[in-house]
Amino acid sequence: MADVAFIGLGIMGVGMADNLAKAGRKLVVWTRDAAKARAFADAHPGAVEVAPTAAHAVRTAPLTYCMLSTLEASTAVFDAPDGVLAAVGPGKCVVDCATLTPERMAEMAAAVRAKGGKFLEAPVSGSKKPAADGQLIFLTAGDADLLEAARPDLDAMGKATHYYGADVGAGSRMKLCVNMTMGVQIAALAEGIALCEASGLSGDAFVEVLKQGAMSSPLIAGKGAAMVGRQYAPQFPLEHAQKDLRFAVAAGDKLGLALPVAAASNELFKRARAAGNGGDDCCAVVEAARK
Ligand code: NAP
Repeated sequence: MADVAFIGLGIMGVGMADNLAKAGRKLVVWTRDAAKARAFADAHPGAVEVAPTAAHAVRTAPLTYCMLSTLEASTAVFDAPDGVLAAVGPGKCVVDCATLTPERMAEMAAAVRAKGGKFLEAPVSGSKKPAADGQLIFLTAGDADLLEAARPDLDAMGKATHYYGADVGAGSRMKLCVNMTMGVQIAALAEGIALCEASGLSGDAFVEVLKQGAMSSPLIAGKGAAMVGRQYAPQFPLEHAQKDLRFAVAAGDKLGLALPVAAASNELFKRARAAGNGGDDCCAVVEAARK
């Protein structure tokens, strides 16, 4: 029996699972790409076993972390006949760390609880490097005793954990507010760089001024340099950033709340996706802003 199951060894999941292994946890892992799972196990001899299906992984451990990308991925893995839910029974614990809609998280929580299990949503703030460095920020809601049981793991993967109550959905709502604000900042930075370059000025010089002033932030420095240098290796894929803006705009729509700046930013990200930049880092949105 492993201590924890980890489902989804993507950009974020691989760093998170690595920090669990470093904390001494015995892992059973499953990810769609079997070669990735095997490579992860080979890098952690004796600590990681590869499961043939997601259901097998869930059956093999009392507590499962999921870090899948999209609603489609969540459906494909959680609801499949050999998926996560199929193996949930009394006492099984599921912690979902993806950025999904509040409605989807609530639906998964209800399905897990209906089978006698416990559920915690725990979307994260932070990207590839914070995931690798154990510096994520968890935005949680759900079963409070599961949060306490998972806390040592969350502490190994992150630097802060926030809890918004038993009602699953609140963590995802907070996450969408955070990523909507980030998406808007990235879109504004992209347009600033595009205007600067089109005006015959240096993008690097523009970012230097931003870094010296009140707008200075790790995002301005990191994404600004990457946009100017056209460095688009994915840390946070553009298609995921657009997904989050889409979810945020839909949440505003549901509440009758106008979000015109987020909606315009979403359109810029959509244009970049349509141009083929979906798999690039989100900073590639600058390509849609350039002439
Ligand atoms: P990712 O690397 O694109 O993918 C995550 C996982 O989803 C991978 O393990 C991938 O499997 C799996 N997957 C995708 N489509 C699938 C399908 N149809 N069936 C089965 N598995 C599928 O995503 P990520 O960047 O790690 O992000 C994971 C989640 O965290 C997303 O919801 C994202 O919005 C959120 N997030 C990301 C960041 C970031 O900076 N990257 C930061 C905060 C939050 P394989 O790799 O095995 O094919």
